[in-house]
Amino acid sequence: MQNLNAFKELLDSPKKVAITTHQKPDADALGSSLALAAFLKKKGHKVFVISPTDYPAFLNWMKGDDEVIIYNQQNEGRSHKIIEEAEVVFCLDFSSLHRINELGEKVRQSSAVKVLIDHHLDPEDFADFTKWSTKAAATTELLYELIVEMGDQHLIDKDIAECLYAGIMTDTGSFRHPNTTKNVHLITAALIEKGADVSKVSRFIYDTNSLEKLKFIGYALSEKLVVLKEFNTAYISINAEELSKFNSKTGDTEGLVNYALSIEGIVFAAIIIDRNDMIKMSFRSLGEFSVNAFAKNHFDGGGHKNAAGGKSNLSLEETLKLFEELLPRYKEKLNPLLKKPYTTNVEN
Ligand code: 5GP
Ligand code: MN
Repeated sequence: MQNLNAFKELLDSPKKVAITTHQKPDADALGSSLALAAFLKKKGHKVFVISPTDYPAFLNWMKGDDEVIIYNQQNEGRSHKIIEEAEVVFCLDFSSLHRINELGEKVRQSSAVKVLIDHHLDPEDFADFTKWSTKAAATTELLYELIVEMGDQHLIDKDIAECLYAGIMTDTGSFRHPNTTKNVHLITAALIEKGADVSKVSRFIYDTNSLEKLKFIGYALSEKLVVLKEFNTAYISINAEELSKFNSKTGDTEGLVNYALSIEGIVFAAIIIDRNDMIKMSFRSLGEFSVNAFAKNHFDGGGHKNAAGGKSNLSLEETLKLFEELLPRYKEKLNPLLKKPYTTNVEN
């Protein structure tokens, strides 16, 4: 962070702090928020965490989860008051204020010192202090580095380490994506040294599925997966009735898009869901095809080069039609990464 000394000075005396993160927070968004909250509390600050929406139950194990204020009609007034009265507002794991819905304007208007910690592309210029790098695999990686830069590594305890680890584990796809750098492993090692129970974290996040969720995945894969070989693209669409038939909860569709991307030869995958108020889309890619650009250019979204999201105000059918019609424009970029099939060494 530039002007680190001024930032440290800011946090040298107790402050009223608000922390917020993107809508439908994932493990990196919530993990960075709760790790930061616990860290700042240890430094003597008064801290509130506001999430713009609810989030999956598989994140409820995180320390401090019970104190998160979910921004909705009942506590709109309270949330606004917290932002208005805050002396410092942290924005974690998102790069532009519209990602936190109505809260975004409140943050913009607030006189608080604003701090952005994030690894998404195209950051909006609203913060007084910034810890931002698209090279970072996760916001929790950047937060860990910031705590170290501040000389406060000793304040990281087991609970904070597990929140930080959760962000790294999920945003690297369990240490499989190209963002899995040496730095990621070094930080992970340091977090384990601080007491992070990696097996506990992965069990909570990946292995607490409901039976309904598994049946929903089975249904989506057997009935709803469309493979467009010509464009090395696969997608799954889910309509509102299907969501309610499988009693789908927040987080139940997370990860489904990765099954589509796991098909041999597929370099672009999408899941397109009718959420009633809008059509929400998740995009994933391998290699050079930028889903950030695709989401930004056509679906009012953004994210990272290989993982992004967007939305559409058309009907589900119209959105699917548009999605398919866009693909020929990208045919050249949608090249398979692996020209030859994998070979197995049978002699071993
Ligand atoms: P997911 O598909 O897991 O919801 O999101 C993938 C990545 O894209 C995440 O980093 C997420 O923050 C970002 N993302 C998802 N939806 C949107 C969106 O509508 N707009 C922007 N700017 N980013 C998004
Ligand atoms: Mn992230």
